[in-house]
Amino acid sequence: MIHVPDAVAARFAAEGERTYPAECCGVLLGRLEPGATEGCDRRYASAILPVDNARTDRAGDRFVITPEAYLKAEAAADAQGLELLGFYHSHPDDQARPSDYDRDHAWPNLSYIVMAVQGQGDGTGRTTGWASWELAADRSAFRPEPLIEGGLHG
Ligand SMILES: [Zn+2]
Repeated sequence: MIHVPDAVAARFAAEGERTYPAECCGVLLGRLEPGATEGCDRRYASAILPVDNARTDRAGDRFVITPEAYLKAEAAADAQGLELLGFYHSHPDDQARPSDYDRDHAWPNLSYIVMAVQGQGDGTGRTTGWASWELAADRSAFRPEPLIEGGLHG
């Protein structure tokens, strides 16, 4: 389960619009309360960290976060006393659900927020929806992660 305050959602939604028609990608930072059983972790997102999409050749439908960028994100999380909860990225003119490619490049025990960003006909895009997904432990499929939106939380 992930808690996403409106202010955090507004930030990644704006990133999806800024980079349109390319995908945006980045890291979700916050606090983690491990659950008693697999899949019961509670994540409290409080910040995002945009990361440059390393896939410049197919930035419209692929994203890659390099190991160097990942380590930098972990260091930034440490410096802020936060944990790396997962990743966000956008699907320009597509749906807010992970692709097969996303599944093949994902890890369990992280949140994957996927945004749909739809072109407005004037070259700009608008983030029209998003959802958070978790990879099954056997990596066979993504499942929707229960989401609590809005407001503030501790
Ligand atoms: Zn994707």
